[in-house]
Amino acid sequence: AQTDRPVRVAIVGSGPAGFYAAYRLLAKQEDAIVDMYEKLPVPFGLARYGVAPDHPEVKNCEDKFTEVAESPRFNFVGNVDLGHDLPLAALKPHYDAIIFAYGAAKDKELGIPGEQALHSVHSARAFVGWYNGLPEHRDLDPDLSGENAVIVGQGNVALDVARILLSDVDTLRKTDIADYAVDKLARSRIKRVRVVGRRGPLQASFTIKELREMLQLPGVSFDPIPQDIFPPEEVVSALPRAQKRLMQLLAKGSTNDPLTSSKSWSLDFLLAPDSLHWSPEYPYHLSHVKFSRNELDPSDPHSPSSKVSPKHLSSGKRAQVNIPASVFFRSVGYKSLPLPGLEDLGIDFDTRRGVIPNDGFGRVTSLSNKGEPEGLPDGSLISHLPGLYCAGWVKRGPTGVIASTMTDAFTTADTVVQDLTKRTAATSLLHAPDNSTGLGWDGVKIEAQRRGLRPTSWKDWQRIDAAERESGQAKGKPRDKLGRIGEMLKVLD
Ligand code: FAD
Repeated sequence: AQTDRPVRVAIVGSGPAGFYAAYRLLAKQEDAIVDMYEKLPVPFGLARYGVAPDHPEVKNCEDKFTEVAESPRFNFVGNVDLGHDLPLAALKPHYDAIIFAYGAAKDKELGIPGEQALHSVHSARAFVGWYNGLPEHRDLDPDLSGENAVIVGQGNVALDVARILLSDVDTLRKTDIADYAVDKLARSRIKRVRVVGRRGPLQASFTIKELREMLQLPGVSFDPIPQDIFPPEEVVSALPRAQKRLMQLLAKGSTNDPLTSSKSWSLDFLLAPDSLHWSPEYPYHLSHVKFSRNELDPSDPHSPSSKVSPKHLSSGKRAQVNIPASVFFRSVGYKSLPLPGLEDLGIDFDTRRGVIPNDGFGRVTSLSNKGEPEGLPDGSLISHLPGLYCAGWVKRGPTGVIASTMTDAFTTADTVVQDLTKRTAATSLLHAPDNSTGLGWDGVKIEAQRRGLRPTSWKDWQRIDAAERESGQAKGKPRDKLGRIGEMLKVLD
């Protein structure tokens, strides 16, 4: 049974997944009104707070998102941390569908002694947030007083961290990097950055563009990779094009001369971190990281998914090595967490995989058969929770670039549209249509007001945006991000 009121959809999170889902929904479902909830007063998630400041072209997606937000069928509700400021259950009576696109708010830990130290040990996530002006990490104050940085992890985020540590600050100043960060980087004494991975070059997860950029950094040399680390020539020549290119680039290294370069970096393979150690004379100074040497599974050393195990000496002891470090960054992946109150909607967050359980098309599924059963090709049954969907990193896990997040969010939006099309009074949505108030944000607003919240609208964001751009222009940069929530809200007074 169709009603003649608009379909109301809530999207939780305003990163690429949220915006691409909104874009697709608004295009395909003409009677849909989308309310996008965001915990920060400002939109765009990791497009604003993750993507490196010296990659402005990647942030062009924000222009597309702005077009989406200009639709009269779109409302932005910022500065509302769902599950904390406002219970998720407050949304439920007023919507036909809810899409969770709230990304990954934490990062994976290594679980090694010393990792929790308050000094000189940082997560890449916090460091990235700090240089990008994320309020949560405004006060990180990373320790850049020594010469040796060690980064554990070999993905693109690790290379972003290495590049920011080694880049010329005058070049960075022209980007939208936070002022306090570039001032601190100008005083940095870091001369050497080691990017360490537990597996080999074939298993590293950085990509060609990011590697090439590192190899071409002015004034920064690259330590040649020992020949025996590479797979044999016949293996390399049989690799798919992109991987072969990556191996060739690694083998070629950098043309920057170590003698005339003031800084250097290296990629160190087959090393797993064991523990962090502080100097006995200066207890607050990190001195080194102890690593165990690994070896690739001898039965399958040349596969991208090859496993490793610790290497042992002839004495039977583990082969270990100490690497000097004055600051340490872990960069082994982001992690999504359950929002408080998901369980009130019947959602059992999958804490092991760090995702909202779903059918791959975006429908939230229940492990305990609370929803509508659906037969899978393998004969097993899963249950959909009607009206609940997910997209982006909280659906797939925290991997993939903006383009893959877009494809994924489109799939989810298409699923919502499909379910809306075939809805009947009894199935598919949060409620039989007549049971939802259909009020959307107008209904939720009352609860937000009762709790004294100060939601930001798209117009509010435009004022913050204008203030940031204006102040940036005076400094010769595209924008000067406001680093505290209070400062953002002050623009709106
Ligand atoms: P996010 O972008 O994380 O968006 C989630 C949003 O939900 C955030 O705005 C968050 O504040 C909000 N939220 C969280 N909790 C709540 C809540 N309780 N209530 C309301 N809102 C909430 N991709 C590229 O293509 N190129 C790059 O150069 C690139 N660089 C990257 C660099 C880094 C350091 C990282 C981490 C990622 C990078 N990516 C890059 C990947 C890209 O950022 C992701 O693919 C994409 O942002 C994932 O989108 P998402 O919407 O799922 O998550």
